[in-house]
Amino acid sequence: MNSQILLMLQLQNQLNNATNGEEWVKGVTKNNKKINWRRCIYMECAEMIDSFGWKHWKNIEQEPDWDNLQIEVVDVWHFIMSLLIEEYYRDMQGGIEDIASDISESSALSLIENVDNGFTSEEVVMQKIEDLMRHALSKEKLDKEGLVNDFFELTAMSGLNLDTLYRLYVGKNILNQFRQDNGYKDGSYIKIWDGDEDNVVMKRIWEEHKSLKPDELYKELAKAYFSLNKSL
Ligand code: MG
Ligand code: MG
Repeated sequence: MNSQILLMLQLQNQLNNATNGEEWVKGVTKNNKKINWRRCIYMECAEMIDSFGWKHWKNIEQEPDWDNLQIEVVDVWHFIMSLLIEEYYRDMQGGIEDIASDISESSALSLIENVDNGFTSEEVVMQKIEDLMRHALSKEKLDKEGLVNDFFELTAMSGLNLDTLYRLYVGKNILNQFRQDNGYKDGSYIKIWDGDEDNVVMKRIWEEHKSLKPDELYKELAKAYFSLNKSL
């Protein structure tokens, strides 16, 4: 079984337990708010499309923002793993270990292992994003394998492989934990840190300090956030 896949699923499960309560797999949060992972996925896909200058009537020379695309790919991975956990639970197909071993045994994983990343054309990437949206918007039963396969294809197209996906995912997971601990739900959290979105700050910190452990990354985020608060 692939240990990075398993670890990401475990971290996602922990984040969902902390954010939504342990009954989240039944589709409702501890605050009785309905959970719709499919909606999360297609809305996040729309954010991916916004990484491109897709509007034919506005800023037509706009260059793609590949860094932002990677951030959104990692965002959607949170929701895809959550949807898989929920679906496996509902279909009584097992838990996190079962998902991890199914993904490990599938041919999809090879799409992001040892890939020689080169960026694909914008149009092809946008079409792949729209394939993901179709999975999320389908009224048919979820095609779990197809969803994972299309997601890994998109991951590779975005210039990521399993290692970089893992790194960025762990970073974002920690950021999301940090947000939850600092008022994200009640709206008191500040998302723009001195002109940059917190996402961008997190990515910068982890690129500058590649050996940080997840809990150390959390502390670095706290340092940056609270020094910002002081100056407000
Ligand atoms: Mg979002
Ligand atoms: Mg996003």
